[in-house]
Amino acid sequence: MNKLSMMLLVMTLGSGLSAQAHEDVDFSKFQPKSNEKDVFLTIDADALTSAKSNFKNNLEIMEVRDGLAIIKTKESGVEFLSHMMHEEFHRCGGFMFHDNIDEATTELFNADNRALASKAIFANYTIDQQDTVEKLLPQVQASEIESSIRKLSSFKNRYYQADTGVQSQEWIKQRWLELAAGRSDVKVEFFDHASWKQPSVIMTIEGAVNPEEVIIVGGHADSISGYFGGASATAPGADDNASGMSSITEVIRVLMQNSYRPNKTIQFMGYAAEEVGLRGSKEVAASYKNAGKNVIGVMQLDMTNFKGSDEFDIVMMTDFTNADQNEFLGKIIDEYLEGLNWGYDKCGYGCSDHASWHSNGFPASMPFEARMKEMNKKIHTANDTIEISRGTASHAAKFSKLAVAFVVELDR
Ligand SMILES: [Zn+2]
Repeated sequence: MNKLSMMLLVMTLGSGLSAQAHEDVDFSKFQPKSNEKDVFLTIDADALTSAKSNFKNNLEIMEVRDGLAIIKTKESGVEFLSHMMHEEFHRCGGFMFHDNIDEATTELFNADNRALASKAIFANYTIDQQDTVEKLLPQVQASEIESSIRKLSSFKNRYYQADTGVQSQEWIKQRWLELAAGRSDVKVEFFDHASWKQPSVIMTIEGAVNPEEVIIVGGHADSISGYFGGASATAPGADDNASGMSSITEVIRVLMQNSYRPNKTIQFMGYAAEEVGLRGSKEVAASYKNAGKNVIGVMQLDMTNFKGSDEFDIVMMTDFTNADQNEFLGKIIDEYLEGLNWGYDKCGYGCSDHASWHSNGFPASMPFEARMKEMNKKIHTANDTIEISRGTASHAAKFSKLAVAFVVELDR
């Protein structure tokens, strides 16, 4: 999380992995200066014991509720925690921050929003768009996704505070505009964030019949490496998360290539600053909530290209997501992605941007590359390259197909 004025992070209780100090996060290096700003962090409280034993006196537990806890530390501690959450709890993000204590407390007491987002039915989950879906799916090309992954991971890093993190968003914006050339119903814009330089990028395809109903497919566009690296680190992030952004770009390419004109509004998003506390998606989702937007479905694609599980191709996260929409995605896989196996797992609070939508009461799902314990272990290092996936994007292509079917079926 960046050098912020006041950030708040919260924690939740999960699988209770042992709280040993992490071998390659040397917490003795965390020596905050007294004049450093306080930060308050939101994370699964299963990390609470571990964080306490690692941060020692540099951490204060403010409040614990519903498995969530608010803790306070100094701002330079945020990336230590980010790395600890990744190494020990295998969470890509793993925490959420808030601009002030009130916001953090609201998040803590947000159980109603989360309950709504988990259980309510937000859309018609009938599957009956075979004519369109079966025409589009064969057009998904792993080679297109591969070249996009190679381009995005060629930036030294896509860190939220780095110039290269802005340049990578500019590349995505230009690529999406290029794909939508000639479409007056499509716009691609930056969503700027006041506290850091990397913008989020949003493509909007205006719905022709029910434009007020919004379908969202998103992923985070930033990358990170190590806990000291910051803006000068080598962070290719080929799987985390150039793969998700490239799976999304391929969905756009196929829809545009077929001049697909939706009934409802479809948006594709590349969020900034996920690695440091879901910051970009939190601001975007909160603005949708405040604007009273009718979001009928959100899919998060974060890490789609490492086939770590022999048993499963696609693993749906059950926590901080919508149960009926997850089941709908399972049915879509059975209907359209013959031969693919899917299952369920949990990834803990704040593990990726779907948690931002969930916390604001919107239906979200996160189909993931593998079971958590079998996911790509090279993320957040300089070794997160496409070679980890044998240099191809064949696994990521499955997620593009799933997203195409999701969008078309919801867009009935
Ligand atoms: Zn990620």
